[in-house]
Amino acid sequence: MDYEAFFGDRLATLKEEGRYRVFAHLERRAGHFPQAVRHVDGKQLPVTVWCSNDYLGLGQHPNVLQAMHEALDRCGAGAGGTRNISGTNHYHVLLEQELASWHQKEAALLFTSGYVANWTTLGTLASQLPGCVVFSDEKNHASMIEGIRHSRAEKRIFRHNDPKDLERQLADFDPARPKLVAFESVYSMDGDIAPIAELCDVAQAAGALTYLDEVHAVGLYGPSGAGVADRDGLLNRLDIVQATLGKAVGLIGGYIAGSAKLVDFVRSFASGFIFTTSLPPAIAAGALTSVRLLKSDNSLRDRHQLIVAKVKARMADVGLPVLPGPSHIVPLMVRDAERCRAASERLLNDFGLYVQPINYPTVPRGEERLRITPSPLHTGADVQTLIDAVVQVWDGLELPRDRRASSVAST
Ligand SMILES: *Cc1c(COP(=O)(O)O)cnc(C)c1O
Repeated sequence: MDYEAFFGDRLATLKEEGRYRVFAHLERRAGHFPQAVRHVDGKQLPVTVWCSNDYLGLGQHPNVLQAMHEALDRCGAGAGGTRNISGTNHYHVLLEQELASWHQKEAALLFTSGYVANWTTLGTLASQLPGCVVFSDEKNHASMIEGIRHSRAEKRIFRHNDPKDLERQLADFDPARPKLVAFESVYSMDGDIAPIAELCDVAQAAGALTYLDEVHAVGLYGPSGAGVADRDGLLNRLDIVQATLGKAVGLIGGYIAGSAKLVDFVRSFASGFIFTTSLPPAIAAGALTSVRLLKSDNSLRDRHQLIVAKVKARMADVGLPVLPGPSHIVPLMVRDAERCRAASERLLNDFGLYVQPINYPTVPRGEERLRITPSPLHTGADVQTLIDAVVQVWDGLELPRDRRASSVAST
């Protein structure tokens, strides 16, 4: 086989379809987020980042950086092993205790990333529970889908955020059979939020375990910032909460929280936990400080919601088609792969504003969008600059705006 030709052909197809991924080559500047530097053709250009998942800017928080510096100087660079063979550092233990208490669970377990946490935990539970059937929301993240697939367990997909459909599908199976219901709280592309209580009602009536991915909610919702289940007082309804340390927490890593026995089971049987080097101590130390900050202070969360509301309101004023939703994610719908890429490119090249285009397969074809994530560190002036630039780009590409709204806004 001509391997090079194969790779080249497949890449050419991606390019033709306008969904070849081009990375913005950035240099983040601690203390200046959301401002960064972009490297292009040997030049360095200033850029304002509008699509980071470092939702609150904790990736540059002075306390987090200080904790990391201290741990780095005390413990060195890497963990030095897998958790089982010399790689369990004091900071891992402290962080797992902190995460368990954050989610009001008996125990927590760290993984290399949120992706690995989902893949490994779902893969392990679904393959080890005898005859397990997995019920998975149709919009679940790739990491959950792949973990479930890897388990080879029987699987049912239920309609997005639809407890009635879940109930119907659960009824097809023997009540005695082990079941696992997996869903997310905040869906990261549409910004909608699951009816957690109703999903738990039908899952638990059928004797299923409940598994919630709070990746886009930890740090952002609830009185202690532990997520939507925290906000809604539902943590006791969930058997497993999964999340990341890579988004609002500002570092890298993933985890699950649950009962002592369940977590010990995953710790003992999950290949993706056992056979890999643990996170560097400095990462765990930074995450520990970040989680403690998030737990103790609502001011960043409050400012985050205010700036999000402002961006949504200003976009509505000028007739830009933002998908309505209750979360911090602002999906600006382009609904065309090529123009979505072009809009992003013009914002970047002509205005120094960075919003990555989101195309198939991350979202269905025809639902291409610019996914904007305002942070508490974006200023009112940043918002104004963004709106003015988007309007120019939008009109330049002849994308539809609600003119009624814009004429109101301009008078
Ligand atoms: C990003 C993401 C993950 C993976 O988390 P990482 O820590 O980035 O690996 C899992 N679930 C959802 C819903 C995500 O968006």
